[in-house]
Amino acid sequence: MPELPEVETVRRGLEPAMTGQTITHAAVNRPDLRWPFPPRMAERLTGAKVIALRRRSKYILADLSTGESLLMHLGMSGRILISGVLQGDFHHDHPAPAKHDHVVLTMGNGARITFNDARRFGAMDLLDTGLGDAHPLLASIGPEPFGNGFNESYLTQRLKNRATPIKSALLDQQTVAGLGNIYVCEVLYRAGLHPARKVGDLPATIVAGLVPLIRDVLAEAIEAGGSSLRDYRQADGELGYFQHRFRVYGREGEPCTTPECTADIQRIVQSGRSSFFCPQCQR
Ligand SMILES: [Zn+2]
Repeated sequence: MPELPEVETVRRGLEPAMTGQTITHAAVNRPDLRWPFPPRMAERLTGAKVIALRRRSKYILADLSTGESLLMHLGMSGRILISGVLQGDFHHDHPAPAKHDHVVLTMGNGARITFNDARRFGAMDLLDTGLGDAHPLLASIGPEPFGNGFNESYLTQRLKNRATPIKSALLDQQTVAGLGNIYVCEVLYRAGLHPARKVGDLPATIVAGLVPLIRDVLAEAIEAGGSSLRDYRQADGELGYFQHRFRVYGREGEPCTTPECTADIQRIVQSGRSSFFCPQCQR
C-alpha cells in the first residue's frame, strides 16, 4: 500500500507529463474500481486542461480547466505508467494494452497515462474543485505533515489523555495525513518509543518531538523517491514504488543499526498489523 512518499513520488513523476496539458482522449474501460466511476467520466475529462497536480494525503488531485478535479488513489495494487513523452533523456514507447488497464488518458503532448489496477482497490472520482476537502474521501483527513496545521501544540493537544498505543495514534489519518505502517515504525524507532506505549503516558515534550521526526522521515523517503525517478524514470515508465532502506521496517531478526546496540529487531502484531522495533532502543 503506497504511503505519502510514494504518492508524492507518483505526483512528481506525473507533473511533466500532465501539468499544462490538455487531455485529448480519455478511455474508461470499466464502470468502476473500488467504487463506481462518476457519470460520463470520459466525456468530462476529454478536452480538459490540467491546471495543477496536487496531493492531499494519499490522493492525487488534478485540477482541471473545467472547474472539476480528478481524484486518483492507487489503492493496494494500483500502478501508473507514463509512455510516449520525453522525460529528460528517456522515452518510453506506448506499451501494448494490458489486462487491468482501466483508464488511459492521452495528453496533448503525446504522453499516455495508464492506470492499471489488478485488484481494483484504487479509486477515481471527479469533484468540484471549489469544494476543497468536502469530498467524502477527504473530509475527515487530518493536517498534512508538512503543513502549518501540523505542529507541536496541535499534536500534544490531539494526543493528550488518550489511552491508545502511540503506533495506532499515529496511524490514525485524523491525527496526521498520509502516515502508514512503514513510516510510523521508522518514526517510533527514531523517537526511541516502543510502539505499544500509551500516548497519554508520554510527556508533552516527547510528543512534540515527534513532529520534526515525522517530517524528517517522510522528507528523506520523498528524496529517495526523487532519486529513483531520476535513476530509472523508469526502466518501464512505471511510477510509484522505489527502493528505500528502512531502519526497522521488514527487518525482524536483523541486528539493530544503532551504534553500540546489540539487540535484534523484533516484530509484534498490533491491530492486525506488524510493528517492527528494537527492544533495546525503544522503550
Ligand atoms: Zn537498538
